[in-house]
Amino acid sequence: MNFLRHNFPILRFEEEWGTVKEPAVVVTFDDGYADNFLQALPILEEVGIPATFFISTGLLGSGQEFWWDEMERLILGDHADPGPFRLDDHQYGRSWPTLNRHDRLALHADLHRLAGKIGASRRDYWLEQLRAWAGLNRNGREANRPLTPEELRLLAASRWTTIGAHTVTHTPLALLTEEEQRREIVDSKKQLEELLAHAVTVFSYPFGTKKDYNRTSIRLCREAGFRKAAANFPGQSHRWTDPWQVPRQLVRNWDMSTFAAELSSFWA
Ligand SMILES: [Zn+2]
Repeated sequence: MNFLRHNFPILRFEEEWGTVKEPAVVVTFDDGYADNFLQALPILEEVGIPATFFISTGLLGSGQEFWWDEMERLILGDHADPGPFRLDDHQYGRSWPTLNRHDRLALHADLHRLAGKIGASRRDYWLEQLRAWAGLNRNGREANRPLTPEELRLLAASRWTTIGAHTVTHTPLALLTEEEQRREIVDSKKQLEELLAHAVTVFSYPFGTKKDYNRTSIRLCREAGFRKAAANFPGQSHRWTDPWQVPRQLVRNWDMSTFAAELSSFWA
């Protein structure tokens, strides 16, 4: 964050960028992990960097993990092997051996990939089956938990932060019917606005690659009263960029020199 602060103008996601002349940076976070409040906010405030947090509302305060984290905990955790995992599903149902690490990694890779192709209630049923298989409950790991409503309110109260919506269940919108998409988009906006008592005008698509949303998603976001939406494919934003598909560069857990090198490649 210090490197960004010293090298670039830093804008807010919701601002109009049309008159920006030099390369500038916008910082965003997706999903709504508790560490956004616990770890990121103190750094942003200390360095003086504005950031937008796109929040999935379905698990706020639940102490449960997002589905990809729970899937990882249930399959790759160090609990004893309960025997082969049999998935009950009309399309993908089958059995996987789980004897060793290799088996578990294969099971995890398969289910993680397939879960990206199904809706939320079917995915919840898969997780239920995994919990029963592993003999574990829904309680998530502290490091992975979503924000509580109170933490979200405190995060939102900072002058450096903007809160955006990121659906309720974090399902790829392109998988859903128009009505289901509308619920995901409108309900997450409403839930955030009720909690924060102010308007929420920006959105980001779950997963956010061009396969994960469609024209209907964009229209529904516009109709819901959003002003701009973030996607998740790499690129720069220019005057001619579609404000409903703002590209973003994913930043990993890099050390400083890698970050600096990757960042300069973003401008290439
Ligand atoms: Zn997300």
